[in-house]
Amino acid sequence: MSEHDAETLAGMIEAMGYERTNESEKADLVVLHTCCVREKAESKVLTRIGILKRLKEKNSSFILAVGGCMTQQKSVAKYIKQSFKGVDIIFGTHNIHRFPELLEEVKHRRHAVLEVWDEPDGVRETLPVARSDKTKAYVNIIYGCNNFCTYCIVPYVRGRERSRSVESISEEVKGLLDQGYKDVMLLGQNVNSYGKTLEDRPDFSDLLTHLDTLGDYRLRYMTSHPRDFSGRLIESIANSNNVCEQFHLPLQSGSNNIIKKMHRGYTKESYLEMVDKIYQEFTEPVLTTDIIVGFPGETDEDFEDTLDVVRKARYDLAYTFLYSPREGTPAATMDDQVPQEVKMERFNRLLALQNQISLEKNQAMVGKEYEVLVEGTSKTSDKILTGRTRGGKVINFAGEPSDVRQLRMVEVVGARTWSLQGKIRQGE
Ligand code: SAH
Ligand code: SF4
Repeated sequence: MSEHDAETLAGMIEAMGYERTNESEKADLVVLHTCCVREKAESKVLTRIGILKRLKEKNSSFILAVGGCMTQQKSVAKYIKQSFKGVDIIFGTHNIHRFPELLEEVKHRRHAVLEVWDEPDGVRETLPVARSDKTKAYVNIIYGCNNFCTYCIVPYVRGRERSRSVESISEEVKGLLDQGYKDVMLLGQNVNSYGKTLEDRPDFSDLLTHLDTLGDYRLRYMTSHPRDFSGRLIESIANSNNVCEQFHLPLQSGSNNIIKKMHRGYTKESYLEMVDKIYQEFTEPVLTTDIIVGFPGETDEDFEDTLDVVRKARYDLAYTFLYSPREGTPAATMDDQVPQEVKMERFNRLLALQNQISLEKNQAMVGKEYEVLVEGTSKTSDKILTGRTRGGKVINFAGEPSDVRQLRMVEVVGARTWSLQGKIRQGE
């Protein structure tokens, strides 16, 4: 979602006549678009600000802007303003559309501005977007989050849920397909809440069923909440042509005790039941997840439950995180915080188990053929292509640059933990 916001910022900035450069030394403007989900993301930004503000010494008209989730927290915005004199513009998540005006103000009046809104003012439909890819595109369907999982800062910095209308989403997807895009990722913190704020209350299944009729392409979504992943949705996906067999279902923890303290609203058993249904309904679904290690009060026994779910669900990939206390969230002030070395030890055990499963699942693909959407060429050679299966698995194989953005049948001939090697079918 932050990546897509950055595409919108880029669109607005390009519309003002700026050109993109990959070298910050040459830039007249740098915008840091930030994330605050974990502390590490925040400290990286502070380091970057420290480095980038030095560019002012060589270029007196250089402008440095910081926006996004991190600066949506008023205390952080204030801290940055006071501690880093070189930052010219500070903005939040709700006023991203105001960026061009803030930039004009700084350019003409030569003084720093800080503008962070408490609330969003509806859903904006007309901002320009400079997409960073020509094959895959992101499309927002719902903004904000109402879930308030106890570890998570997102609802505080992204506001309450608000959905775009089916019509405007549909228009955007049609436009993308007309431009030749082949893979559309629908975005939302919880896509399963889609439609609740709209008058005729369409739900996420309705939206998928509608978008499925728009053409021949790959349709994905992120993120769905395991609590709301219904049988009806599984059915709509199974009956569609375009919705891919890729399921990102953030587990966070496998222990009922911890899941409850996290406010996630499912149980280990209901989660595994849903996973079973997916394995029954689809021949080769790709299953991924997010897991937090070391949530306050997590015991060895709780952690064993997480490992148990990982063994049973057999994820293709898991994004694993050390619990990071976020100021203002309920979990940050819970008593029994887990010591860092215990978190690390558990994290490493989880990683080793998951890596083994990822490798085994990739090895099971060897000898089979998959439809691959070619996304690009490798950095080292334009005869080495990289693409993805419908499930989202990355495959590298030899081919021609003209294959890029095309579908090719590729046989998997080798497997590693995070990638596959393939061979294009003869005559393709
Ligand atoms: N809306 C999505 C993702 C939100 S943030 C969802 O519900 O899954 C992405 C991931 O970051 C989360 O799934 C969670 O695993 C992780 N995360 C969020 N807050 C965290 C925290 N305080 N510490 C560690 N990881 C966290
Ligand atoms: Fe955070 Fe939970 Fe909302 Fe995801 S669903 S953004 S983890 S509060």
